[in-house]
Amino acid sequence: MANSKYAYVRNFELPDPLLPGTFMLFRLDGHSFHRFSDTHEFTKPNDVRALQLMDHAAKDVMEEYPDIVLAFGESDEYSFLLRKSTALYNRRGSKIVSTLTSLFTSCYVFHWPKYFPDRPLLYPPSFDGRIVLYPTEKHIRDYFAWRQADTHINNLYNTTFWALVQQGGQTTTEAHATLKGTFSKEKHEILYARFGVNYNQLDARYRKGSVLLREEIVPKEEDGVQEHAAPATPAPEEAAEGKAAEEDAVAADRTVADGTENEPVP
Ligand code: ATP
Ligand code: ATP
Ligand code: MG
Ligand code: MG
Ligand code: MG
Ligand code: MG
Repeated sequence: MANSKYAYVRNFELPDPLLPGTFMLFRLDGHSFHRFSDTHEFTKPNDVRALQLMDHAAKDVMEEYPDIVLAFGESDEYSFLLRKSTALYNRRGSKIVSTLTSLFTSCYVFHWPKYFPDRPLLYPPSFDGRIVLYPTEKHIRDYFAWRQADTHINNLYNTTFWALVQQGGQTTTEAHATLKGTFSKEKHEILYARFGVNYNQLDARYRKGSVLLREEIVPKEEDGVQEHAAPATPAPEEAAEGKAAEEDAVAADRTVADGTENEPVP
């Protein structure tokens, strides 16, 4: 059938190669996870089981694709950095995005019962995926600092918001109003003075997100370079840019203190 009169339709499939010599940054994000987390009764502000499940799916993706060298996760999203030189699927954009998004999604569903043994899936979750190309290492550092700043800003807001609701007895509308226009420092004060919570002592996973790093082990001369089968999971604060990101986040918090700081990232 390859040479049939119908085969010309194949010519409508256009190649979509990604620019060589650039870093591929692949990010996926849960589709409508506001609803998904409500329906499946995630603990607010942070359901640790859901975060661990995201980490597990991300680790599976890294094990399947050795060209992924670093990953960062927060909330319902994960970012993956591929080696600049990767020739994965001949750098075909839609092939890479669709295959990685699909594998992550099926791993998420596959491992769900391990993390939520008493809560069966009520409907199939899905994720969107995209690849952005970056030319330099500075862009990559700034990219991860940007995602980690987002983690910090959202988590500080959400932690204070849910403290006002769960312990302070406010309605969600009242809690939004209380926080409108507040600076980072004021949220820390609300948490400490009203709820006895020292924000900086909360789990680093919540404050700074998760980092998965592929470690290269350089053994004795004759063995050559080997790779760890499993990516290591250093504590999030060990992320190279962690501190800088947090400082950026605080700065960002100040510049968007008009109450729009918790807008979802597009
Ligand atoms: P979109 O389809 O545009 O991404 P969304 O509803 O998924 O819409 P996001 O901005 O991605 O919006 O936000 C994800 C939401 O999922 C968070 O705001 C939060 O309510 C919820 N969520 C995700 N992970 C967790 C978690 N581990 N614990 C509690 N809630 C979570
Ligand atoms: P690629 O990742 O490039 O798509 P592939 O191995 O999936 O590689 P395809 O050209 O998509 O290659 O072919 C799918 C193969 O899967 C078929 O050749 C066949 O061997 C097998 N397969 C798929 N569906 C069935 C089925 N219902 N019954 C038996 N074999 C099947
Ligand atoms: Mg989402
Ligand atoms: Mg999200
Ligand atoms: Mg196939
Ligand atoms: Mg989104």
